[in-house]
Amino acid sequence: MGIVSLTPAMKQYVEIKEKHKDCILFYRMGDFYEMFFEDAVTAARVLEITLTSRDRNKEEGVPMCGFPWHAASAYITRLIDSGYKVAICEQVEDPKEAKGVVKREVVRIITPGLVIDDDQLSAKQNNFLAGITIKDATVGLAFVDISTGDFRAIQSTDLDFFFNELAALDIREILLPEELRGSPFLKQLASLKHDCLINYLAADYFDADACARLMEDTFTSVPFNIRQASHAAVVSATGAALRYIGDTQQSRISHIRTMEWHQTGNYLSLDDNAKRNLELFVTIQELKKRGSLFHVLDETVTAMGGRRLRWWLHYPLIDPRKINDRLGAVEEIRDRHLLREELRKQLGAVYDLQRLGSRIAMKAANAPDLVALKTSLQQIPAIKERLRELESPLLQSLTTGLDEMRELADLIAKAIADTPGPMLHDGGLIREGYDAALDELITIMRDGKKWIVALEDQERKRTGINSLKVGFNSVFGYYFEVTRTNTHLVPADYVRKQTLVNAERYITDELKKHEDTVLHAEDKRKAREFQLFTEIRDRIGAQIDRIQSTAARIADLDALTALAEVAERYNYCRPIVDNADRIDIRDGRHPVVERMALAEGFVPNDTCLDMTGSRCMIITGPNMAGKSTYIRQVALIVLMAQMGSFVPAASAQIGVADKIFTRVGASDSLARGQSTFMVEMTEVADILNHATPKSLILLDEVGRGTSTFDGVSIAWAVLEHIHDAPNLGARCLFATHYHQLMDMTRTKDGVKNYHVAVKEWGDQIIFLRKIVDGGTNRSYGIQVAKLAGVPDAVIQRAREILENLETGEFDDVGMPKIAQPKKDAAQKNPGQLQLFASPDEMILRDLQDLDVLNMTPLDALNRIGEWKKLLK
Ligand code: ADP
Ligand code: MG
Repeated sequence: MGIVSLTPAMKQYVEIKEKHKDCILFYRMGDFYEMFFEDAVTAARVLEITLTSRDRNKEEGVPMCGFPWHAASAYITRLIDSGYKVAICEQVEDPKEAKGVVKREVVRIITPGLVIDDDQLSAKQNNFLAGITIKDATVGLAFVDISTGDFRAIQSTDLDFFFNELAALDIREILLPEELRGSPFLKQLASLKHDCLINYLAADYFDADACARLMEDTFTSVPFNIRQASHAAVVSATGAALRYIGDTQQSRISHIRTMEWHQTGNYLSLDDNAKRNLELFVTIQELKKRGSLFHVLDETVTAMGGRRLRWWLHYPLIDPRKINDRLGAVEEIRDRHLLREELRKQLGAVYDLQRLGSRIAMKAANAPDLVALKTSLQQIPAIKERLRELESPLLQSLTTGLDEMRELADLIAKAIADTPGPMLHDGGLIREGYDAALDELITIMRDGKKWIVALEDQERKRTGINSLKVGFNSVFGYYFEVTRTNTHLVPADYVRKQTLVNAERYITDELKKHEDTVLHAEDKRKAREFQLFTEIRDRIGAQIDRIQSTAARIADLDALTALAEVAERYNYCRPIVDNADRIDIRDGRHPVVERMALAEGFVPNDTCLDMTGSRCMIITGPNMAGKSTYIRQVALIVLMAQMGSFVPAASAQIGVADKIFTRVGASDSLARGQSTFMVEMTEVADILNHATPKSLILLDEVGRGTSTFDGVSIAWAVLEHIHDAPNLGARCLFATHYHQLMDMTRTKDGVKNYHVAVKEWGDQIIFLRKIVDGGTNRSYGIQVAKLAGVPDAVIQRAREILENLETGEFDDVGMPKIAQPKKDAAQKNPGQLQLFASPDEMILRDLQDLDVLNMTPLDALNRIGEWKKLLK
């Protein structure tokens, strides 16, 4: 369709849309946001709203859809969640004063990585936008959450390491240089972050010089030398992110002031596998939060604290001094039961200061946001008072850093109404008595309204119509309404404006004159309030540094208090954390499994690992005995200790680990399109290549994905390597039911055998869940199968085969004895039949196992029939 045939408003639309091709344009028309052309088609599909057309009569009517402006937030959320960007185009002049088409402008662009509204964010999760570049084989990554002001950067020459870090971060949107489009790097990135929106930016976004200058303009200080060539990758990743944010937010990013050089070497490294296998944030099967470690630990009462605790769990520490600082703080808060209760109550009244602060700085905050800021700041004096009683150095330094910002709280208390509405242009924001000019307008309005009420009284008397009343509507303002039965009494100076079924509406000159004053005053009042509000918001926005640093301390406090709460509630102990090699846990428990309703209760177990005598534990035992639970509990206890948490044990000494690796033999990674065994071996390779002597390695049923002999051989060689290799010798827990591995203790000093005890009861087994010294060569698989309800005939047959296998696995011609001879083959070679039970034997055994009391007569008859068949 030619532009020529468009109305002026549509022409304007097309011009604006041209500049925002990659966005769905929300085009404000009066009380609605409208979308046109392809945008309308897309939006109608994603938002499930009706697609219409702007001019139905024309053959090529423009497709269109829309919704009332106040419903926008929910629709933005849906588009963003589906990976779209939204450009909000507002009317930027009063339609009443506009000559021709109302002026419109895009005021904000919202993309998945640039969300700032609370209802589009998860409270306890960051929402990162990432800039990524590669320069001379070095990857630079900058990630920023504009809703909180957090800005961090990483640089690395190790791609595996880089992808691992990336996997852990809650990234929603990625910026890449155009030249990486279609590269192998991109393919790997996209498979890892398949739900991320990826943007390709022109090369000049990543220009080293421009990026360095942008960084100098933005940050108060940068933790590394910007101009040094070796930092080129991280500088251009950072610069690109800053410029992209500047472009879309019209440079309102005064809250992004500090950046953190995230040195992953300072943290316990857990690869993506370990995080998944240990179910730190979601369960492995159903991806549910309930059932994860975070769900058990998260007793935070603020969103900031929740995000902080999540971060600590993502990045546990390795420096015992810092870990002990946290543990000391947790211990003190745990010991002060009453104080903790009070503190949690006060912290709970603090809103999300980080996100409030960011919205204020970005000029996106409304009046309820300011009231929330006031309420939050008003808690701080009492929180400081509480904390002053505590002695731990970490708590003391957090306390001194809390800034009450009393003048900001006072300003809001003085200026902003108690319960203002969310709209900025509807008035009701500013308290009376704050501004003389505003008060005057309010008086005029109030008097004007009073006058109108008086007029009603006067007119009733004058006309003798007692039911006459004054009303107001937005079309023609104030009017007198007279019921039909009384219209004959209406005086001559009344001008009729509207006829209703039962009444007529009139105006008079006098009424209109006063209406003018009242309405003008009302408009002026709204404008004045908006102006005052933005001034106050700007004044507060100028203090964003103070708000942010206090918010960071509240986050720490809340996270520490949550750990203290959990420590007491679940009876955890303070671990001794040091740099020694020893892991010595008494009566350790699995923090998540012990919280489940277990019929028998959770059975605690000891663990002792060090780098000499007992560094590799082989744990055998039947299926379902508790092997996997046990090895995971050791890793979780180590990890909790290193994040500064108390641990589920009677006592624990933890020599810090630098990395935790896990490999679980039974799970699959269908999403990544690799076969089970391939995945398993890739992960094993990764462990052997990256573990160090200080690492903790968990291997669960490694080798299970292939044939038994293959599996045993690989498992053996892997464990031997971990034990022997000069760059390894790491602490390792190996759960397996290959009892052949137990023989390794004969040749390797550091390997010890353990098994999970079970008790036999008739031909049943009872799980005792206790880890005891020595291996076991019984796997009780058949008993477990019976427990699970596998039909008796199959169990029976399995027993026979097992017996045969245990007395020698091949017959004299070298055939595996597992094979059951075919009927005719058996006749040809009757000798083979003897390898299996005779029919009489089978019937006798069946008879022994029969549970007569639980059989129906019909069952019994059938069984006899089967026996007869066997004897034929
Ligand atoms: P395995 O790996 O030996 O097959 P799991 O570790 O998967 O066994 O444990 C099976 C189930 O046994 C768990 O889901 C849990 O319900 C229970 N269990 C495991 N360890 C314990 C324990 N120490 N105390 C009580 N129940 C346990
Ligand atoms: Mg298991």
